[in-house]
Amino acid sequence: MNAPLLPIEVIRERGQHEVFCGLTSIIWLHRKIQDAFFLVVGSRTCAHLIQSAAGVMIFAEPRFATAIIDERDLSGIADANEELDRVVSQLLARRPDIKLLFLVGSCPSEVIKLDLERAAQRLGEQHRGQTKVMHYSGSGIETTFTQGEDACLAGLAADITLLAEPQASAAADLLIVGSLPDQVEDQFVELCQAMGIARVSCLPPRRANQLPTVGPATKFILAQPFLNETSRVLEQRGLTPVAACFPFGAEGTARWLRAIGSAFDRPAAQVEATLSPGLARGRKSLERHRTVLAGKRIFFFPDSQLEIPLARFLQEELGMILIEVGVPYLNRQIMAAELALLEGVQLSEGQDVDRQLDRCRAASPDLVVCGLGLANPLEAEGITTKWSIELVFSPVHGFDQAADLAALFARPFDRRQRIGTPAQ
Ligand code: SF4
Repeated sequence: MNAPLLPIEVIRERGQHEVFCGLTSIIWLHRKIQDAFFLVVGSRTCAHLIQSAAGVMIFAEPRFATAIIDERDLSGIADANEELDRVVSQLLARRPDIKLLFLVGSCPSEVIKLDLERAAQRLGEQHRGQTKVMHYSGSGIETTFTQGEDACLAGLAADITLLAEPQASAAADLLIVGSLPDQVEDQFVELCQAMGIARVSCLPPRRANQLPTVGPATKFILAQPFLNETSRVLEQRGLTPVAACFPFGAEGTARWLRAIGSAFDRPAAQVEATLSPGLARGRKSLERHRTVLAGKRIFFFPDSQLEIPLARFLQEELGMILIEVGVPYLNRQIMAAELALLEGVQLSEGQDVDRQLDRCRAASPDLVVCGLGLANPLEAEGITTKWSIELVFSPVHGFDQAADLAALFARPFDRRQRIGTPAQ
């Protein structure tokens, strides 16, 4: 992306950190790609995480599972591959509805020794015509929880069909990138089409056979801020990125749509006419939350990678005061438009959790956004918290979800005031 790099001060820390691993993203990805199955190649710990985070589905056929690879030494690799092949064959024989199978790597040493890329190739050959087999890593050593989606979408981005001239006229004009709830995705596609952009596709698709078709003129825009690797793959394949703020809040969504309009040279009057009803609704819906949140001081621990766009939304649209905004990693180019709007903020990248907890306690914020592991101890100290993982499970993008997004931050204050106890 061509956005300017900004000179903003950042505390960089490399110490103990408290984040979920990339396996967690399976929880929302499996709902999005409706005929995909996510097979975690992992340990009992991974199986436990997935089961407890996603809940056990009783009435539906599950679309994720864990192939448990027990402790083996290097000489046992052949057995582990055989075991994996057996599990996959059994699964696909029982579930012919699975059209896309992801082998998801994890961090136990027995799994690291397995070459999942080769396993995906081997199994893809075996099940050609029935099920496509891909792989990515959700390992806690390499990924925080939203990076699991990035790794998954980067694989899909490398796989989408790139049409050359003269067939390129059938390619998408615009690709919206990032997993969104269907109703939010539909709203965005409709708004883009109302601005005069005819062929709008989305990544990930809702079904495995609906992978977008792109061409040399296709532009893409990120809807989620954690898609660094996916963005890199798409650029490498010749697609042009549209640099923008992220569509959180009324103003963020308006900026995101304006950036699309401008990338496609749409007349400003048409763009404004398209977005103004939603912008007005979004602004109005935030008023009641602003009365609760304005002037409240907020501290973000690094977790979801949504922290910077959310901080901008809370400061700009709800009048909150940012104390520290922690991110797992900072991509200044992808975040350039957001960083340009932040005022007087302390950013931190990475984590040394004890030092950050010290800074947090010293600042005594009104609200802390953090992972589950930190929320309970902080609540016990009387600090109000918001679980960052809720922000990726809820529809929070776009004009009509702006109030729901604000409500996620207002609710802890409301509950605390009503019942006088810590609450999520
Ligand atoms: S991938 Fe690693 S961090 Fe994630 S659940 Fe499995 S063992 Fe734990």
